[in-house]
Amino acid sequence: MRNTDLIRRDLGVLWHPCTQMKDHEWLPLVPIRRGKGVWLEDFEGRRYLDAVSSWWVNLFGHANPRINAAVREQLDELEHVILAGFSHAPAVELAERLVEAAPAGLSRCFYADNGSSAVEVALKMSYHYWRNLGRGGKRKFVTLSNSYHGETLGALAVGDVALYKETYKPLLMEAITVPSPDCWQREPGVDWEAHSRAMFAHMEATLAEHADEVAAVIVEPLVQCAGGMRMYHPVYLSLLREACDRHDVHLIADEIAVGFGRTGTLFACEQAGVTPDFLCLSKGLTGGYLPLAAVLTTDAVYQAFYDDYQRLTAFLHSHSYTGNPLACRAALATLDIFRDEPVLARNRELAAAMYDAVRPLEDHPNVGEIRQTGMILAIELVRERAGKVPFDWRERRGLKVYQHALSRGVLLRPLGNVVYFMPPYVISEPEIALLGEVAREGIALAVRD
Ligand code: PMP
Repeated sequence: MRNTDLIRRDLGVLWHPCTQMKDHEWLPLVPIRRGKGVWLEDFEGRRYLDAVSSWWVNLFGHANPRINAAVREQLDELEHVILAGFSHAPAVELAERLVEAAPAGLSRCFYADNGSSAVEVALKMSYHYWRNLGRGGKRKFVTLSNSYHGETLGALAVGDVALYKETYKPLLMEAITVPSPDCWQREPGVDWEAHSRAMFAHMEATLAEHADEVAAVIVEPLVQCAGGMRMYHPVYLSLLREACDRHDVHLIADEIAVGFGRTGTLFACEQAGVTPDFLCLSKGLTGGYLPLAAVLTTDAVYQAFYDDYQRLTAFLHSHSYTGNPLACRAALATLDIFRDEPVLARNRELAAAMYDAVRPLEDHPNVGEIRQTGMILAIELVRERAGKVPFDWRERRGLKVYQHALSRGVLLRPLGNVVYFMPPYVISEPEIALLGEVAREGIALAVRD
C-alpha cells in the first residue's frame, strides 16, 4: 500500500473528527502505518515526531514494549466482559491502584470509556447525590470561561470554547460561567499567584449567590488545554476547595488531559494539596493505548447511593465497554512504569529542555508569551505584543505552523494561534531541540503577512 492509495480510500468513506473535510482538497491527510516511541511512520517510510502525544493521550511512546506485552498477555485471557454483576482482576487491581495513587479521600472508582463520558458521569453523580439527600434543587453547574470538558451534550454544556459550543447552544443545559483565572489575561507586572487569587473573587461571589441551586463546580486543574493551553496558579484550586466546602458544593476536577504527570505531579490537584469530590481521568490513563476513563469519588458520595433497590437511589448509568480488561491492563502497565522509573524527575529535565528550545522566541515581536506547566509548553502568537492584539482566527496562522512542521517531519497541531508541545515522556533532548527548531521556523513563516 502507498500513501496515496490509503488517502484516496479514506476520503471516499471516512468523516474525520474535528475536521472541515473540504480542507482535505488542499491539505493532505497523513496516513500512518506504524509508530515507535515518539515517532509515527507513513507507508513510504516518512517519519513524524508526535509532539502532541496523539491528542494528549500517549505517555510512554507508541508500541511501548511493556504496555504491548501486558495487552498481549491479557488478550489470551479475557478481552471483555460485562461489568454489571461480573468482575475481573484488571478492573479491581486498577481501581485499587488508582485509589492509592489519587489524592487522599478518593476511595471509589467508577469506570467509563472515554473522557466525555467520565465528565457526564461526574455531573450526573453530583446532581444525583444531592437529590438522594433530598436537595434536588441543586442542579446547576458552575464552570470557568474558556474551559473544555468534552463534546457530548452534557460535557459541552459545561465547557466554554465557542468554536465547539456555539452551534449546539440551543440543545444544551445552561451552566453558570465564571471568568477564568487564566494568567495570559493578567495585567503587566502582576504575577500568576496574585492574578489567580484576585480572579477567585468572581467564583466566591457566584457561589455565595447560587450555592443553593449549584451541585458542583467543574474545572480543568492548572491548565485549560483545549482553550489554548491557558494556565493558572494552584492557589486558585486551594481557594476553590475551601469555598466549595463552605458553600456545600462539589468540586469536579477534570484531569483527563492534565493527569498522569503532565503538569509535573502525578495529578495536578496535588500542587494545591486538594482532594476533589470527583476526579475524572482518561487519555493518559492507558498510556494512550485504549479508550478508558475512571471517575474517582469519596465514600460520602458512594454512601448516598447505597440503599435498598426499591428506594431507587442507585446510579443506573453504564457504558458497554466500562472497565474493559485490555484497557485496564494497559493502564496497569502504565502505572507500573510510573512505579519503576523516575518519570517525574526525568520530566523535570525534559521540561527545562523544552523551554530552552524556544527561549530565543521570548523577544519575538509576534510572541505574546511563552508559558509552561510541567510537560505542557505553549507559545501564544499575537499580531502585536502591546495590548496582546490577536491574529484574526480566519487567517489560520497556526495551520501554517502545522504545515511547515509536517514538511520537517514533526506533528505540531496548534490550537488557533497557540503553538504548543505536549510530547510523550520518552522524548529525548535532541528530539526536543528539533521541536524547538521546527517551531521557530514555522512561527517565522506563519507570522509573515
Ligand atoms: N476533558 C478535557 C480536559 C479534555 O481535554 C478532553 C479531551 N480533549 C475531554 C474532557 C474529552 O475527552 P474525550 O475526547 O476522550 O471524550
